[in-house]
Amino acid sequence: MCGIVGYIGTRQVVDILLNGLEQLEYRGYDSAGVAVMGENKINIYKAEGKLENLSSELLIHKDEYKNSTLGIGHIRWATHGAPNVINAHPHTCNCGRLVIVHNGIIENYKELKAELEKKGAKFRSQTDTEAVAHLIAYIYNDTKDLTEAVRLATKKIEGAYALCVMHSDKKDELVATKRNAPLLVGVGDDEYFVASDVPAIIPYTKRAMYLNDNQIVTLTRNDMTLIDAEGKELPKKVETLPWEPVALSKMGYKHFMLKEIHEQPDVIRNVLVGKLHSAQTPIKLDEVKLNKDTLKNLNRIQIIACGTSLHAAMIGKYIIEDFCGISVDIEASSEYIYRKTVTDEHTLVIGVSQSGETADTLTAIKQAKAKGSHVLIITNRPDSAMAREADSLIPVNAGIEVSVAATKSYIAQLVSFYLLAIYMAEIKNTMSSKALYEIKSEMMLVPQKIEQILSHKETIKQCAQHYANTKDFIYVARGINYPTALEGALKLKEISYINATGYPAGELKHGPIAMLDESMPVLSILMKGSVYEKLLSNSEEAKARNARMIALTNSKDEKLKDLFEYIIEVPDIQELLSPLIAMIPLQLIAYYIAEYLGKDVDQPRNLAKSVTVE
Ligand code: GLU
Repeated sequence: MCGIVGYIGTRQVVDILLNGLEQLEYRGYDSAGVAVMGENKINIYKAEGKLENLSSELLIHKDEYKNSTLGIGHIRWATHGAPNVINAHPHTCNCGRLVIVHNGIIENYKELKAELEKKGAKFRSQTDTEAVAHLIAYIYNDTKDLTEAVRLATKKIEGAYALCVMHSDKKDELVATKRNAPLLVGVGDDEYFVASDVPAIIPYTKRAMYLNDNQIVTLTRNDMTLIDAEGKELPKKVETLPWEPVALSKMGYKHFMLKEIHEQPDVIRNVLVGKLHSAQTPIKLDEVKLNKDTLKNLNRIQIIACGTSLHAAMIGKYIIEDFCGISVDIEASSEYIYRKTVTDEHTLVIGVSQSGETADTLTAIKQAKAKGSHVLIITNRPDSAMAREADSLIPVNAGIEVSVAATKSYIAQLVSFYLLAIYMAEIKNTMSSKALYEIKSEMMLVPQKIEQILSHKETIKQCAQHYANTKDFIYVARGINYPTALEGALKLKEISYINATGYPAGELKHGPIAMLDESMPVLSILMKGSVYEKLLSNSEEAKARNARMIALTNSKDEKLKDLFEYIIEVPDIQELLSPLIAMIPLQLIAYYIAEYLGKDVDQPRNLAKSVTVE
């Protein structure tokens, strides 16, 4: 969360900062700001809300910064202090000569603030960040060395940070550092870039150096120095990034989310390429680096993830246990990291994250590694911090996902879990060849079946609009589609702000049924298979309480017509693969409700795509 950019070189800095921030807007859009080196002082421009507000503000001041070639910028996802102009970054010390941008949370900011106020610091914002600006400034007043001031300040800071710092005394210097937050330096000719993520620098250079925790980099126009927390100079590892600049376009769709929903058939084809050749041949998954004997004897897996990835993990558990007979625990990363988990060198730990930067999951997998576990990462970003920690890495190849609400990356994570589960079942010999043949042949048909759903999306749109004015929405399912119910509800909450909840249908009668009346839509994910009849009975129970019943089903059962107001039909598929199909109409329902209500579909309030704070 929050995006940082910095530039020192010979070009006009504001354009570079704005272009960079635009690429990082997925990280937050509460406010935006830049600071640029002027003749005698640093000029700061900030605006509340999206980047476009800052761009308009900057147009007014064009003449002030047109010759400036050094600056820093920030896009905020507020953790401390309301999302307003005062709390927008950059932040400064009393005199405004030292300016910083920050991504992360300073956990001891209250103590630091009290100490600094005694020394005369005047705090203007409610942010944790401002304490760091005053702290570095006080140390700088003694040392007159910006790098040293940053180094000594980081010794006093607790928490997570990526920082970029400038001082009006230092017209040819930019200092950056990080701990538990992403930051990289782009290396150009007589110019350097600092950014939270690759897309901000890739239009300018492919040469980059990822900073490790506690390293401090000092950039001048023609040199870069790297030191560790003790001030010892370190060798610089500049690598060439395997990235091409991509022009992201909605391709005629109204929103990125709708475009990304439509990309899912091709995303699945991409994931399967090279791994699933035919229904007769074994899955090829060279990405898994555990040797086959270890895999054969493996009897414990833990999967850790957050949000949508956690729902993919829940389905992962279901299929790994079903196909391979291995016991799987799943846990939200933020819970896993603060308790005594039973994790050891015999446990395979799987981390799932779209961005590969999710702070909680990153910490969790580092803990698991320290306990000797083999760590397998499933991510859409093979260049991320998690990927760099991985013993085995399965990149899901969904392509850049712009919409904050995840769709195609979820489906790609699911397909990766199917491949992994079948791969392990083939090694462990836990599935019959008939079952393997059937599941593999049907997997190859999933993209076509999704295309069929997408070609009938108008009926789903009608259904969505019919329920759009509800305050609450309940999704129910049983078995393998219980996580689909959770994910369907999460999509709706994220982009329409309707209070939606997913339940295992058998649990309704243990409490939630009390909420049902004629105003409550209840959507049953009624896929044929082992729990179909049971879910049908649970749907009857909800109907008996007058709920507005909707079915999402692959059944042609005539009696459904009496029970449900709306029936959304999907192509037939075997139960174990049904989450891949059932999710698509739920994404569309969430999309069409939010669109109908006029919400900001791609950038919903309070959210950010890459969650780099705990
Ligand atoms: N804690 C800082 C703020 O609230 C930075 C937030 C972040 O990185 O998400 O402004």
